[in-house]
Amino acid sequence: KIEIAGLQKSFGPLAVLRDIGFTVPAGGVVSLIGPSGSGKSTLLRCMNLLVTPDRGSIRVGDARFVFGSGAPLPSHRELAGFRARTGMVFQNFNLFPHMTVLQNVMEAPVQVRRRPKAEAREMALAQLEKVGLVDRAGQMPDTLSGGQKQRVAIARALAMEPEVMLFDEATSALDPELVGEVLATILKLAADGMTMVIVTHEIAFAREVSDRVVFMRDGVVVEDGPAAQVIGDPRQDATRQFLSHFH
Ligand code: ATP
Ligand code: MG
Repeated sequence: KIEIAGLQKSFGPLAVLRDIGFTVPAGGVVSLIGPSGSGKSTLLRCMNLLVTPDRGSIRVGDARFVFGSGAPLPSHRELAGFRARTGMVFQNFNLFPHMTVLQNVMEAPVQVRRRPKAEAREMALAQLEKVGLVDRAGQMPDTLSGGQKQRVAIARALAMEPEVMLFDEATSALDPELVGEVLATILKLAADGMTMVIVTHEIAFAREVSDRVVFMRDGVVVEDGPAAQVIGDPRQDATRQFLSHFH
C-alpha cells in the first residue's frame, strides 16, 4: 500500500508539487498522466526519496516518512532501506554497460543486500525468466534491443524484492515496435499483484493496466478516478483537453 499526503516540493522559486495526495491499495495499479512539466517525474522521485519533499508524508507498506514542520530528515540507513522497497524503472534503462545481463540483475542484491552470490544468481535467473530473457543472461547490454534492455532493467528492480514498482515513461525511449513487449511485461506484473505507479503517455495502456488514473497539471491532482472513467469520460475540462491530444 502507498499513501501520499500533502506532498510539496519546490526547486528555488518554482513550486513543482503543490499539495499532492493519493493512495494505491496493496496490489493496486495507478497511472499518472499529465502534460510535460506537470511534476510527474518529481513526484515519482519523491516517492522513492531520490528527491526530498519539502512537506507532506509518504508511506510505503509500514515505512512512513513525514517532511517539513521540523521533522528530522531520514538517515542514510533509512533512505537505503526505503529505496530497496520501491523499485524504479526509468526511461533510459541505466544498465551497467560493462556487466552481463545476469551481473546487472545480481549486482544490487549482492552489493546492497549482502546476499550470497549463489543465492543472488538463482534469484536473478528467476527474475530474468519472468521477463522472458533468461536465455540472454550471459550477453552484454549493448547486444540487446531497447525493449530487451528495458526488460532487464525491470528484472533488476524486481531482484531487490520491492514492495512497489514505480515506472517513469518506461517505453518513451523505445522504437514503436518494441513498446509492446515492455507493456506486456508490466501487465504481467500487474496480474501477479504487484503494487505499481506508472507514469505514461500510453493512454490506452494506462486504461488497460490501471485500476485508477490520476491526472496531474501544474503540480496538483486535477482528477483521480477509475481508469475507464478518467480516460473515457473525464469530469474535468482540463483532463478532457489533455486527452484530446491523443486521439
Ligand atoms: P515530462 O512529462 O516532460 O517528463 P514531468 O511531469 O515529469 O514532465 P518534472 O520532470 O517533474 O515534470 O518537472 C516538473 C518541473 O520541475 C519542470 O518545470 C522542471 O523543469 C522542474 N524541475 C525538475 N527537476 C528539477 C531540478 N532538479 N531542479 C530544478 N527544476 C527542476
Ligand atoms: Mg517526466
